[in-house]
Amino acid sequence: MEKVRAFITWMMIDPRHPEIAQAQYNELKTQIPLLYALLMVNAIAVSYTHYDAAPFYMTVGILAPMLVFTTIRFAVWVNSRNKVLGPEEAIKKMRQTVVLGSLVAVVYIAWSLSLDAYGGPSERGHVALFIAITVIGCIFCLMHLPQAALMVMFIVTIPYLYHYLRQDQDVYVAMAMNIFLVCLVVLQVLLNSYRGFCKLIQSQSALAAKQKETERLNAENERLAQTDALTDLPNRRYFFNQLDALINKVEKTDDVFAVGVVDLDRFKPINDTYGHQLGDQLLTEVGNRLKTLNLPNVDICRLGGDEFGFLLRGGSNDAEQTGQKICERISEPYKIGDLQLSVGASCGIALYPEAGKTAHVLFDRSDYALYNSKTTSRGSTTVYSADHEARIRSDRAIEVALQSADIGKEFQAHFQPVVSLPDRAIVGFEALARWQSPVLGNVAPNQFLPIAERTGLMHRLTVQLFDKAVAQIKMLPGNLCLSFNLSANDITSATTVEALLEIVRQRDINPSLITFEMTETSVIASYDAAEGCLQTLRAAGVKLALDDFGTGYSSLGYLHRLPIDSVKVDQSFVADINDIVARGVITSIVNLCRSMQIQCVIEGVEDIDQLNTLEALECHLAQGYHFAPALGFDEVNDSAHASGTVAGLPLASSPATDDLKTSRA
Ligand code: C2E
Ligand code: CA
Ligand code: CA
Repeated sequence: MEKVRAFITWMMIDPRHPEIAQAQYNELKTQIPLLYALLMVNAIAVSYTHYDAAPFYMTVGILAPMLVFTTIRFAVWVNSRNKVLGPEEAIKKMRQTVVLGSLVAVVYIAWSLSLDAYGGPSERGHVALFIAITVIGCIFCLMHLPQAALMVMFIVTIPYLYHYLRQDQDVYVAMAMNIFLVCLVVLQVLLNSYRGFCKLIQSQSALAAKQKETERLNAENERLAQTDALTDLPNRRYFFNQLDALINKVEKTDDVFAVGVVDLDRFKPINDTYGHQLGDQLLTEVGNRLKTLNLPNVDICRLGGDEFGFLLRGGSNDAEQTGQKICERISEPYKIGDLQLSVGASCGIALYPEAGKTAHVLFDRSDYALYNSKTTSRGSTTVYSADHEARIRSDRAIEVALQSADIGKEFQAHFQPVVSLPDRAIVGFEALARWQSPVLGNVAPNQFLPIAERTGLMHRLTVQLFDKAVAQIKMLPGNLCLSFNLSANDITSATTVEALLEIVRQRDINPSLITFEMTETSVIASYDAAEGCLQTLRAAGVKLALDDFGTGYSSLGYLHRLPIDSVKVDQSFVADINDIVARGVITSIVNLCRSMQIQCVIEGVEDIDQLNTLEALECHLAQGYHFAPALGFDEVNDSAHASGTVAGLPLASSPATDDLKTSRA
């Protein structure tokens, strides 16, 4: 029963294998026209040989409509040569073909057997031969649709067998039996080859499915390779791929686009204070916000760390607005767990083609513009301009001159007095670097220092300048303190720190007279690397000061964690001392230092009013043009030895540190 059911399902074209039906259709497209052609030619031949023997209606009357129908079917199949059928259509078409094939077989066998009643032995022989070769030919043509081949074979051979067996003529009986057997064998051969055909099709479709899956996986891999795992935003690779693609696309058009880089402000201290896990959560939150911004024509990516990038198809105004929108959105407060956090963001933008035409240049320029936002006004967006271009050029000139400079000759330390306010005496000097380049003339430290840092010249510069400054301060009468500025490079380099301490030993100066100044920003930017070096310095007995205090993170957390002895309040607060907020900041920093028992130096005192206000706030140490600018060593030395004063102020006889006894244990 099971087998019968399976046979019926097979005969009706199994709908579970549409791919086979489709393949069958493709094969039949070329073979069925041949089948119809064979049928027509053979039928015309039989009709021709019977023309005289059989009545007209039999040879022409009946055949004519049969031929018309056959021709139409022939044409339909020829026309469908280029047609591709869907799976369901193919199944329908195959079923149709089985039915139609059976009907054609019925009509043709009925017609040809009725012709057998006319003519002599040769005409009758022709009929027997016509049926035999036509049925074998047709079965062959239907080899890819064995269901139809089977139907045709039985519809033709059984009546054929019956017809000739009934006539009791040995020759015809033998012929009929022969044909029947041949047909059975041919059918078996066809079924065998059909099985092979099905297997091939199934393995091909399995292969195609596998290929499709592989392609899907490839596409997924490709997507993952271009996605940032933490924020699910497109990543750096995607950013640069898109940038290259964009350049290729607009190259020969007038289209413009913008490359933007966005960097979080104050992310590092949050990450350091609350741990990396919270840092990651914060970045994820930033990513989510950026995703919901939905800016048209903008692709936002995470480039790594706390840096994001965007590509915008549009001009300068759109780009600046986009940068500002992104920064503002990022700057809104975050609530993570019980914590309320706030980070800022600064943005730099480079426009194609003004700022550059290659990915590398565009990215560099947007980074430069970002650096500009960060250093001049955090939280803002800077579009790379001609001014920046000029600055880069002059930076390059400085770089070249710096590379070939004779540091010992061209660089000097100038000395700015640090004044104790209660007794109006100089307790020490801050050494400030001065460069007189034979090529460029005087170059300001703010110009050459970042370049020296970037080009790896800082170590040599720091060590040689410090050596010179220590030697010079020792030539002055009394035990004066020396403050010396260290850059971010210096405080993270064990080699530099070791070299500085070696100078202290070699020059035989009391380490407690030396204060190394560094900015909050430089310490925090690389706190992990700096911590060890700061401990080494501290352990050697030198003092540490936090410079430009109030302008950076001013995080109390850091103030407690850093092994510092003093802070230097940034000159901007003194400049604004009449402003109630600035005065409040100074007051609270002074109080903070007092409670932490560390020294506080006020920088940038330029006039007597500022000085009076500071004294009223009980500030003890100050620097500024009001007392003296940074002076050349010869001037300081001559005046100190001649009158025991510099710029009209006496030199303290003993170090301020001993006086004030405020340094932390
Ligand atoms: P800084 O350490 O904050 O130094 C104070 C700066 O303010 C100096 O500028 C000084 O000349 C200037 N200044 C002093 N008094 C006043 C005042 O009353 N009003 C105003 N408006 N300015 C005043 P300078 O010499 O141009 O140095 C700039 C910065 O370069 C320094 O800022 C320091 O961060 C860095 N620097 C200088 N020399 C060195 C050095 O040898 N090594 C390192 N790493 N950095 C240095
Ligand atoms: Ca300083
Ligand atoms: Ca300063």
